[in-house]
Amino acid sequence: MSINRREWLARLAAGGAGLLLPARRTAAAPGPVPQAAPAPSPTPEACPLALKDFQPRSMLHVAEHKVERARFPVIDIHTHLGWSKGEEISFLTTPDQILPVMDRKNVRTMVNLTGGSGAGLAQSIRTFESAAPGRFLTFTEPSWHRIAQPGYSQWQADEMERAKKAGAKGLKILKTLGLFLREGGTTGPLVKIDDPRFDPMWDACGRLGLPVAIHVSDPEAFFTPIDRFNERYDELGNHPDWSFHGRDFPSNAELLAARNRMFARHPNTRFIVLHVGNNAENLGFVSENLDRFPHHVVELGARIGELGRQPRTARRFIEKYQDRVLFGTDAVPPPDGENYPQQVFKDELYEIYYRFLETEDEYFDYAPAVVPPQGRWRIYGLGLPEPILKKVYHDNAARILGLTS
Ligand SMILES: [Zn+2]
Repeated sequence: MSINRREWLARLAAGGAGLLLPARRTAAAPGPVPQAAPAPSPTPEACPLALKDFQPRSMLHVAEHKVERARFPVIDIHTHLGWSKGEEISFLTTPDQILPVMDRKNVRTMVNLTGGSGAGLAQSIRTFESAAPGRFLTFTEPSWHRIAQPGYSQWQADEMERAKKAGAKGLKILKTLGLFLREGGTTGPLVKIDDPRFDPMWDACGRLGLPVAIHVSDPEAFFTPIDRFNERYDELGNHPDWSFHGRDFPSNAELLAARNRMFARHPNTRFIVLHVGNNAENLGFVSENLDRFPHHVVELGARIGELGRQPRTARRFIEKYQDRVLFGTDAVPPPDGENYPQQVFKDELYEIYYRFLETEDEYFDYAPAVVPPQGRWRIYGLGLPEPILKKVYHDNAARILGLTS
């Protein structure tokens, strides 16, 4: 006769497993053996639970450390305080709204990467930098909408000089390049990342000492079907437009290869490759690139979920490249930021980053959200030593940005 584990446990509870546990039998108080029938327990088949309703709570009892302030002053190299469209810009917040959070969290400087161009850039600089000198820095963006105009290539290069004069500290490239920008703007074939029309722009940035913060491609799971095998199933369900599977999209590998061809052509331009080199799932590949292209550094924004689920590999990576890793969060102020909890600008976001970098806490949430928003896993702290923390929080970014203090 064979019984399954559930039946065996039920017999135990009913006292029917005496042969298996004679010692317990003799120790039991005298009296009738209870004949309790096991109550039917709900099974997944009998009580189906929608994935969206599954919110398991960890029963682990392990050390928890709340890190309210970073150990050293922070430069957050990757934030979005506004969104631009053409030369127009709309702001998501005001200096008054975010300075108190910065003060509480020991964030000395925030770099607003999406500072726009032309009149929008001037407005970004006026709005934030003038309000609190030294606390905000601004990057400019290319004028993609002009790409079809004659003479665009040289005009865009010259625009870098004008942007620098206006006060821009660098150039930001969104994943627009490679995944959205098309020959006709929104129609026609996709424009390649290594399109030679941008060569004068990359060169101008090198000549002018403007670092290029670049985001191309996206998590690997965004390039695979949205099905039961996709580890970012919830996230892609919440943001189906983040899927680049199918249609005429290049693969993740093709995008990164195009980026690398462009890097190889511009050795005198400094690149800040956002989101851990745009391939946080594959630190071996990111390491190869760091070795191959000494003119680039990487940044952590919105990828501690990836780093924190491979804490031993991630710590070795940061130790090895401790002069080339920059702190960034990809923070977006609420209410817009609430749509992406891993990026929402608030105290808790910074506390999670600090906990991840400074402590050896285990199995905690990488974002202030009920359900882990990028994938259903939790993370482990790196416990970085102070000299490395200081570099990652501040010194590496200060060097790249040419700040004196
Ligand atoms: Zn970003």
